[in-house]
Amino acid sequence: ATPTALMVGTGRGAQLGILIKGPEVLESTRRVDTVVLDKTGTVTTGRMTLRDVIVAPRPEATGTPEEAAQRLLRLAGALEHASEHPIAQAIATGAAERAGALPVPTAFENVAGLGVRGEVEGHQVLVGRTRLLTEAGVELPEALSRDLATAQAEGRTAVAVAWDGTARGVLTVADAVKDTSEQAVRELRALGLTPVLLTGDNQAVAASVARAVGIDEVIAEVMPEDKVEVVRRLQAEGRTVAMVGDGVNDAAALATADLGLAMGTGTDAAIEASDLTLVRGDLRAAADAIRLSRKTLSTIK
Ligand code: ADP
Ligand code: MG
Repeated sequence: ATPTALMVGTGRGAQLGILIKGPEVLESTRRVDTVVLDKTGTVTTGRMTLRDVIVAPRPEATGTPEEAAQRLLRLAGALEHASEHPIAQAIATGAAERAGALPVPTAFENVAGLGVRGEVEGHQVLVGRTRLLTEAGVELPEALSRDLATAQAEGRTAVAVAWDGTARGVLTVADAVKDTSEQAVRELRALGLTPVLLTGDNQAVAASVARAVGIDEVIAEVMPEDKVEVVRRLQAEGRTVAMVGDGVNDAAALATADLGLAMGTGTDAAIEASDLTLVRGDLRAAADAIRLSRKTLSTIK
């Protein structure tokens, strides 16, 4: 490969909104046959908003259902306000809008891929996946499990809220598929690549996003540290893997993939771990990058 042709490819990349770490990156791009796409923030906007507020039926509870909902939002919102996760921001913002000023937690811990736990107004609060609660010995009553499953089947992300050892409710958030994602997937397929959706979110939500953009292969409910294992497994099957992601939880997978592409709208950790950055956060630029590298390299040969 002549350095001049590769430099030209790099310059054209910049015009397309693709930052390339080094000219040699274009070489590895050529062999890619599989594109693993992170869901939240990559295929979807990642700008989630609070939707349903579901309070667990509690016969002994005092006050109106509206008061119970406000309390649920106050305690969950206060804790989530301390987290940077897109789900957390949606819950904190929605809670402040619906329940007013939020208290400040006296303890806070982020549990990667599961949720948050901490102390608010003297209560030990958990917000996150069902697994976060069960690992703390808190069971979800059947009515809440059913509401949670229904919301997820309808494509919303549902998280459970518990405090002082008892499940108190379910909050749902939803985020929109980016306008450009469906076309991007179509372009990637036209280049002969197989798209795979990879997410820590649940199977039902993942399937509904995959359906919306035309992806058949879905790997869901993957813990952040296991995303890299998924990439290795695909590589062990003999596939050459590009990974597109935006989050801190994608960084290891981006570094391990044969080609890592970061959303320019994502975290620094993802950008640093990647070979290419899609400056505008538009997934169509992933197809542009592959097209560009093929063209650049065929010019050289
Ligand atoms: P993704 O892979 O889609 O970017 P994550 O690995 O960050 O998602 O999170 C996986 C799941 O863990 C989320 O879908 C959510 O159910 C739960 N979760 C993570 N962080 C939080 C949080 N701060 N509050 C509530 N739930 C959370
Ligand atoms: Mg993400």
